[in-house]
Amino acid sequence: MDKVERAVDAAVEAVDPAYVVDLARRLVQIPSVMRGGDPAGNESAAAAAVAAELDGLGLLVRVEDAAPGRPNVIADWPADGTGPLLILEGHTDVVTEGDPSLWSVPPFGGVVRDGRLYGRGAADMKGGIAAAIGAVRAVRDAGVRLTGRVRLAVVSDEEGMMLGIKRFIRNGWAEGAVGAIICEPEANAPCLVQKGAVRAVGRFRGRMAHGAMPKTGVNPIPAAAAFVRRAARSRRTTRRATGGIRCSAIRA
Ligand SMILES: [Zn+2]
Repeated sequence: MDKVERAVDAAVEAVDPAYVVDLARRLVQIPSVMRGGDPAGNESAAAAAVAAELDGLGLLVRVEDAAPGRPNVIADWPADGTGPLLILEGHTDVVTEGDPSLWSVPPFGGVVRDGRLYGRGAADMKGGIAAAIGAVRAVRDAGVRLTGRVRLAVVSDEEGMMLGIKRFIRNGWAEGAVGAIICEPEANAPCLVQKGAVRAVGRFRGRMAHGAMPKTGVNPIPAAAAFVRRAARSRRTTRRATGGIRCSAIRA
């Protein structure tokens, strides 16, 4: 067994599942839903909890706002590390819990029942954040000396406009990264491909005309409809071009 394999085994051995579950529970119990107009309705409490946890573990922690009250947490292990950079990424915001009366458990209770953690954000993705922190903790506890650095990027506004990760990249935190693991839930299978997103704004111009003389005007709506149909066709083409790759097809 070579040195790397021994280090991996030691780190896996050092993973503390009870710690990971407890941390995930504590994070679920912080309702980090973005609620416009509510000063507490943002990610700041969850980000503060993550920052305190990472600080306690001895990582070098930085907190910076992606938008007012919406902080990113950036933390490096080892604190004085150099060399190749691996990013573990997660987000603190969760989507709304909706009507709590429709839940079988309190949405922010962090209930563990029959070996499962229930609550808004348990899967997407406070469980992922806890797993990433638990992984770095295990590497630390195993005494593994890394030849590079691990950077935790725990960002805000993933469920909205991605302000957090955009700010993270703009501020240079991803520079020099040789890889990134996005800790989103994927049914426990590594997902090696990811779709992109296009947020397009289309303007279709018409020309006004009297209702009795439609030929002198231009109706922009058929052009907009044609555009939507073409866009839908191009999505189908893209899926064919990637060979219909789905995450489940590339389980490790
Ligand atoms: Zn997510």
